[in-house]
Amino acid sequence: TGKSLIVSFGEMLIDFVPTVSGVSLAEAPGFLKAPGGAPANVAIAVARLGGKAAFVGKLGDDEFGHMLAGILKENGVSADGINFDQGARTALAFVTLRSDGEREFMFYRNPSADMLLKPEELNFELIKSPPHALCRSPLARVAYIGVKNRAKVFHYGSISLIVEPCRSAHLKALEVAKDAGALLSYDPNLRLPLWPSEEEAREQILSIWDKADVIKVSDVELEFLTKSKKIDDETALSLWHPNLKLLLVTLGEHGCRYYTKNFRGAVDAFHVNTVDTTGAGDSFVGALLSKIVDDQSIIEDEARLKEVLKFANACGAITTTKKGAIPALPTETEVLNLVKG
Ligand code: ADP
Repeated sequence: TGKSLIVSFGEMLIDFVPTVSGVSLAEAPGFLKAPGGAPANVAIAVARLGGKAAFVGKLGDDEFGHMLAGILKENGVSADGINFDQGARTALAFVTLRSDGEREFMFYRNPSADMLLKPEELNFELIKSPPHALCRSPLARVAYIGVKNRAKVFHYGSISLIVEPCRSAHLKALEVAKDAGALLSYDPNLRLPLWPSEEEAREQILSIWDKADVIKVSDVELEFLTKSKKIDDETALSLWHPNLKLLLVTLGEHGCRYYTKNFRGAVDAFHVNTVDTTGAGDSFVGALLSKIVDDQSIIEDEARLKEVLKFANACGAITTTKKGAIPALPTETEVLNLVKG
């Protein structure tokens, strides 16, 4: 597992999940507090696998915000990129578990602290890789060694594109990470109820499409973004852009498909006892990034890429065998045990 830094940018929140399904929120006998937010899940997934991760985003300067920062740190994720907003509160989601197994969300975001991150509040040291020219001078090299945490991979979603000022902060972070030579990894992580309209969601999600080096979409996102009902190579490749290095489509219990400039294919999922699929996609992404962060040539070598995707599928599969996202994220040993069978 890679030792270079993976920076994950975006939201982190707490889901209040009722202890029973099939009743309305108000009728539930109790709640569990489940920390989540896709970018935060990815950061913790990387750290649990033994990789190096940092989270960049904004939380409320309240009980929930400090609880979330504590969870990141307990899990070995750097919290140096977190800002605490003095006025707004940490984002919360109130979940209803429907009897058909689907989840309904009600969000506290009016606006929540994560939406108020400003471009000038970004931790640029964390996001930037060293400019090569600078590193040629011995003095600069010493200064660089002093900055331990520099991003080799910058991962992000799309929720922070919804409103200002975090939209500008998101765009600035992308620009800085790209200029510094980080690999940009995008999981649009569609949460439709948060967007003002479907059209706006599609437009904004696609507005930063061609900046990414690696993109992961779920089958549902593929349908939504392409307005197609077919999950096939043609539909997936309609999302290809000339600078893209790797496109992944995750298919739940059917594994994933991969597309590069030179080859494409599929990797089967593992059969496990699934109890809750929350976080499977984030776990998959965390596993993939932790393997390519120090060796991007994997993307160009189909045999090695398939090995890594098998590892990522196993990581996603294990995450579905326990309730919640963060508590279900596996260690590298657990993943390797499943891979070896
Ligand atoms: P997302 O959470 O983004 O919708 P998926 O549900 O497709 O993503 O899950 C990501 C990966 O996790 C899949 O590609 C697969 O390898 C694994 N996975 C998800 N659900 C299951 C399942 N029910 N059984 C086995 N593996 C699964």
